[in-house]
Amino acid sequence: MAKPLKPLESLALEKLSEESLPKPLDELSDAELENKKLVGRVTTYVLKYLSNKFVDNGFEWLLPVVFSKSTDPLWPDPGASIDKKVECEIYGETVKTTSSMIVHKMVACSLAYPKLFTFSPNIRIEKRERAYTGIHAYEFTQLDFEVRYASAQDIRSLVEKILSGLIEGLKKDLREELVALGRYKTLREIELPLEVYDRMELLKKHGDNWENKIISSSSKPVWITNIPREFYDFEDFKNGRWDNYDLMLPGYGEVLSGSKREWEYNKIVKKMDRDNVRKDNYQLLLKLAKEGKLKPSAGAGIGIERLVQWIVGAKHIGEVQPFPKIPGVVYEL
Ligand code: ATP
Ligand code: ASP
Ligand code: MG
Repeated sequence: MAKPLKPLESLALEKLSEESLPKPLDELSDAELENKKLVGRVTTYVLKYLSNKFVDNGFEWLLPVVFSKSTDPLWPDPGASIDKKVECEIYGETVKTTSSMIVHKMVACSLAYPKLFTFSPNIRIEKRERAYTGIHAYEFTQLDFEVRYASAQDIRSLVEKILSGLIEGLKKDLREELVALGRYKTLREIELPLEVYDRMELLKKHGDNWENKIISSSSKPVWITNIPREFYDFEDFKNGRWDNYDLMLPGYGEVLSGSKREWEYNKIVKKMDRDNVRKDNYQLLLKLAKEGKLKPSAGAGIGIERLVQWIVGAKHIGEVQPFPKIPGVVYEL
């Protein structure tokens, strides 16, 4: 069955044309290179701020991996639109490039690091038409983190605190850059707490277009909960509710996805069967779950480029990448 594209795609399609797609570094004008430098300063601030905060909060900083037998299936998330999985053979074994480190996070968090984070390169060969959503790249970085025994609320509170501190810090320390980018006034400090909406309620109120409605009508980031998706997000089988969450940025869209996790073997197997996810690809996770070694946890992943894109007000995500990775457009670097 073809995966439905999000309503956001049609909204963004009107705004971007082929000519307006980001160019590689060597084709930029002097003014565009200046802009790139400003974005570089903002990115450096964001990376430094986020890593400091996670370390200060007692998280272990793990380095990412690229090749594994097991990676995120990105299925059956209705938002996922992948053209091709990247696989290759090494030492006689078939491995995949990382689509997200969710499986690694669950295993590492259960066995060794109760609080962990990583900046993880994600390869997702998005369909060509996603060049025009403005928010999809075929390579990007997730700040992926996980906390043993945490609740969904614990994670949302942590993210809110870090995000509001980040904007406050940026406005104080990078005023000149934000002014030059035309974002100082419009990037507002974030008043907490953020609103939390249930996806079902939004669907009832706004119909299928709920996502566009919420993105275009909010002036600050908002949480969406209860979203049916991959087997690793916690689903209450009694009432069908999902204990997960997305953070949506005004004018842009999703910047974070996360959840409380499934850790019970029977539930994971049931969901894999229901979604036609190959259990073969998740042997270790299933073994640990069966042995009772998978621990309850919660976490999330923040798309770094989307976060920076929103902060600087860029039209296309490729503008905040030194080497743009635009769906369907492959530059030399
Ligand atoms: P979308 O629905 O917007 O395609 P997703 O729900 O498929 O995203 P997740 O699997 O939840 O994405 O990935 C976690 C985060 O990584 C997202 O919230 C987003 O910030 C970022 N992200 C996902 N896909 C991309 C992409 N193609 N380019 C840039 N960032 C992305
Ligand atoms: N990073 C996400 C999470 O923690 C998983 C994903 O990439 O979809 O749930
Ligand atoms: Mg998501």
